[in-house]
Amino acid sequence: MKIAVLAGDGIGPEIIAQAVRVLEVLKADGLAIELEYGLIGGCAVDATGEPYPEETHRLASQADAVLLGAVGGPQYDALPRQQRPERGLLAIRKKLNLFANLRPAMLYPELANASSLKYDVVAGLDIMIVRELTGDIYFGEPRGIDVRDGQRVGFNTMLYSEAEIRRIAHVAFQAASKRQSRLCSVDKMNVLECTQLWRDVVTEVSKDYPQIALSHMLVDNAAMQLVRNPKQFDVIVTGNMFGDILSDEASMLTGSIGMLPSASLDENNKGLYEPIHGSAPDIADKDLANPLATILSVAMMLRYTFNQEDAAQRIENAVKQVLAQGIRTKDIAEPGMESVGTHAMGDAVLSSM
Ligand code: NAD
Repeated sequence: MKIAVLAGDGIGPEIIAQAVRVLEVLKADGLAIELEYGLIGGCAVDATGEPYPEETHRLASQADAVLLGAVGGPQYDALPRQQRPERGLLAIRKKLNLFANLRPAMLYPELANASSLKYDVVAGLDIMIVRELTGDIYFGEPRGIDVRDGQRVGFNTMLYSEAEIRRIAHVAFQAASKRQSRLCSVDKMNVLECTQLWRDVVTEVSKDYPQIALSHMLVDNAAMQLVRNPKQFDVIVTGNMFGDILSDEASMLTGSIGMLPSASLDENNKGLYEPIHGSAPDIADKDLANPLATILSVAMMLRYTFNQEDAAQRIENAVKQVLAQGIRTKDIAEPGMESVGTHAMGDAVLSSM
């Protein structure tokens, strides 16, 4: 299991250090893990002038999976667009053809008070949004702003080929088969032909997965159901634009940005794993960052790229146990609760493992 480790900027190195400690434990217990380190984002710009240097691309291409911290920081905000740290992220996603974005939104019962929704609605929430990442209206041509009949018009093209729909559908059915075997496909087939095709192709693909219960939902209803009764969902699959919106809505239901991992996969389940949060420059180098989203990203990596379900659950159970013991970093501590630093949270996870 060759893993490229790209810590990035801000809190990136601190949270990655704790995730690496978890990987080292698994390695000591017999998993054939090999780690290689590279630069991405602002630190790569400082060293090479590029946010995603060729050397890093070589490392990431040769690895089976990539573990990424976060990129960006105020010191890079004035750079030309091409050199911005965030360009490094876009470049690695595109160059590795990572078309499937998996974002779980889970809320441990112990943290349910962090949500803006009522305890009963969200406690124990565990859903997964599978978002197509390289197609749809974000990439379709033609696009632009023209002048027609004397006034400006703006236009974009919502476009999916059946091959693009089929491959993301397979990822979603497979994700559902590793969970509660329920998949809800979200579209807007009552208005948009493109998403009628989406629904037809997802239904065709479902024939390969008779054990998965497939349902369909219109996107406006899905947005409403996510705040009304989010626990009705197991896996949701949807296109790039709807997924952009729904995955942010779902992750914010949990109210704990420092807890949520993500995966972006290619056709062979090679993946880039990262926390959903950014580089948090406001708390960098202060031993304040919550490393759990990054540690849970390692669990996703073991599940989705390496098929090591036992090791994935070992990590997830360790995190659950730590939370049950009342151990909290500052971002997830309730008023009056004591909190621990980044490194001590890593210690706690390791001892639970
Ligand atoms: P952010 O996610 O970095 O931080 C938002 C807030 O959440 C901050 O108050 C921060 O302290 C807190 N926070 C985030 N992660 C935390 C953690 N693990 N533990 C405790 N608290 C945490 O978003 P932002 O402030 O909008 O952006 C900061 C920088 O990160 C910007 O340069 C932005 O471009 C970049 N960014 C990078 C990524 C990425 O690398 N994937 C994603 C989003 C933003």
